Amino acid sequence: MAKIFMKTPLVEMDGDEMTRVLWQWIKEILILPHVDLKTEYYDLGLKNRDETDDRVTAESARAAERLGVAVKCATITPNAQRMDEYKLKAMYKSPNATIRAMLDGTVFRAPIIVPGITPYIPAWTSPIVIARHAYGDVYKGAEAMVPEGHEAELVISRGGEVTERHKVFDFKGGGGIAMAMHNTDASIKSFARSCFNYALQSKLDLWFATKDTISKVYDHRFKDIFAEIYQEEYSKRFESAGIEYMYTLIDDAVARVVRSSGGFIWACKNYDGDVMSDMVATAYGSLAMMTSVLVSPGGAFEYEAAHGTVTRHYYNYLEGKQTSTNPVATIFAWTGALKKRGELDGTPELCDFALRLENACLETIAGGKMTKDLVGLFSREGVTAEALDSRAFLQAVASAL
Ligand code: NAP
Ligand code: MG
Repeated sequence: MAKIFMKTPLVEMDGDEMTRVLWQWIKEILILPHVDLKTEYYDLGLKNRDETDDRVTAESARAAERLGVAVKCATITPNAQRMDEYKLKAMYKSPNATIRAMLDGTVFRAPIIVPGITPYIPAWTSPIVIARHAYGDVYKGAEAMVPEGHEAELVISRGGEVTERHKVFDFKGGGGIAMAMHNTDASIKSFARSCFNYALQSKLDLWFATKDTISKVYDHRFKDIFAEIYQEEYSKRFESAGIEYMYTLIDDAVARVVRSSGGFIWACKNYDGDVMSDMVATAYGSLAMMTSVLVSPGGAFEYEAAHGTVTRHYYNYLEGKQTSTNPVATIFAWTGALKKRGELDGTPELCDFALRLENACLETIAGGKMTKDLVGLFSREGVTAEALDSRAFLQAVASAL
C-alpha cells in the first residue's frame, strides 16, 4: 500500500528522557508504516541544547513560525540538580517558556475522554478546555531579595527620566523579597482574540476570570480588554452561534467549574492556567490524557503533551526494566499536528489518518488495554482492564489502527 503523502514538513522538536524514548517508538510503530513523514528536525534534548548554547530552541521556534505547524516532545527544564547531572554550561530557561515567548499566543488544553474512565469529579461529563495565556506575568518577572533597611519601588521611566514611582514596601523591620512583572496590551488582545475564535470554532461557551478586585490596574486591564474586544468584534457572532462569554472573579470561577458538567472553555491568565490545567487534567483521569496546543497570533500551531519527561520511569528504563508510561498525550500531539498540516495543505488523507489513529487509541483503552496509570480509573461493564508496558500498548494501538 502506498504511504500517505505529506506536502509540507512538520517542525519536529525532540526532547528528553522517557518521552524521548516514546517519541521514537510512536514514529516507528504508528506513523512511519503509514505516512511518508516529512519533518524538519530539531533536537531539543538537553545535551544538544547545551552544545548549541540553547540556540536550537530559538531556531525551532522560528521554524514553527515559518512552516506553521510543530510537534514538540517534553523537555527537561534544568535546575541545580540537572546542572550537575548533565554538566551544563548554564541553567537554560524552559524551552516551552522560550518558544511561548517567541510565538506569543495561547495554549489550549483539553482532556481526552474515553469510555470507561470516569473523572474524579463525576459531574464533568463534557471536556473543560483550559486556554492558558502563554506570555508574561511571573514567567517574565524580575525578582530580588531585599535586605533589611532597604526599600522596594516600582519605577517607570522614559529615556532614563522617571515618570512614575510606586512604593512597594519598606523593609525596615527585616529583609524579604520583591517581584515586578508585566504584560502587554498587544499580547492580552491576541489572547482574547484566540479565545473568542476558539470558542466560535468549537461552539463552546467561554469563561474568563482574574482577580480584578484586588489587582485594580493589572488584572483589571485583562478584564477591560476582553470586554472591549468582545463587544466590538464578537458579541453578535457569539449570539448567532448560540454561545456565551462570561467574566467572573477567579475564586468564583473555581467554584463554578467544580459544580459544572464541563463543556466550556476556561480562559486563564498564565499562572492560573499552569496550575488549573494540571488540576483539570488530573481530575479527568491523568496528565497523560490531555492534549495541548499553542496557537500563535501569527498563525503557528505547536502541539505537545501536557506532562513532563517522566523522569522516574526513565531511570527504571535505563536499568533495563519495562515501563508502563502512557504515550497517549504524545500520540495526540502528533495527530494534532498531522491533522492541522493536512488542513493547511489540503491533504485530507493525512487528516483522516490522524483521526483513525486517535480513534485506535480510544478503542484500545475502551477495550481494556491500557498503561498502568489508567487501570485504577477504569471501570466498564464486561471489560477487564489489563496493564501493558508502553511498547505492548503501542502494538495494541497499531493492531486497532
Ligand atoms: P512529569 O514528567 O509529568 O511526571 C510526574 C509523574 O506523573 C510521573 O512520575 C508519573 O507518576 C506521572 N506521569 C506523568 N506523565 C506520565 C505518563 N505519560 N504516563 C504515566 N505516568 C505519567 O513531571 P516531573 O517529574 O515533575 O518532571 C520531569 C521533568 O519534566 C522535569 O525535568 C521537568 O522540567 C520536565 N517538564 C517538562 C514539561 C514540558 O516539556 N512540557 C512539563 C512539565 C515538566 P508515577 O511516577 O507515580 O508513575
Ligand atoms: Mg504546569
